[in-house]
Amino acid sequence: MRFAALAAVFLAGVAWFALIGALLVHVAIEDFRDLRTLARLQCPACKRAYGKTTARRSKAKYQRECDDAVRQIEADKEPGSVIVDVNFDNEWPVECPHCGHCAKSSAHHRNLVENPLAAKSIQNG
Ligand SMILES: [Zn+2]
Repeated sequence: MRFAALAAVFLAGVAWFALIGALLVHVAIEDFRDLRTLARLQCPACKRAYGKTTARRSKAKYQRECDDAVRQIEADKEPGSVIVDVNFDNEWPVECPHCGHCAKSSAHHRNLVENPLAAKSIQNG
């Protein structure tokens, strides 16, 4: 009986770590696909590919902005209140390294969306 209980706990632990590991691998693969897709997309203006460096930089900047927004929300919340969820649109501005044209990358749809406001955001940011 005792062995069966220990075996069950052990197997539950192994299953838990396997689930967490699978989730982390899934997130890493999705991130890789997002960046690979963006790197291969063509700028709507000059029709040249953005490239890996631009893809990584634009997503890293977006992630920093999301982190800053979460920190600001935490700082501004009422004492004792709880933040349930912060939902970001997972779209970020990307500036063409060749011509400077700005579009908005949509990770969810893995495409580009023209966004004139994004150009202002990149130039000021
Ligand atoms: Zn371009």
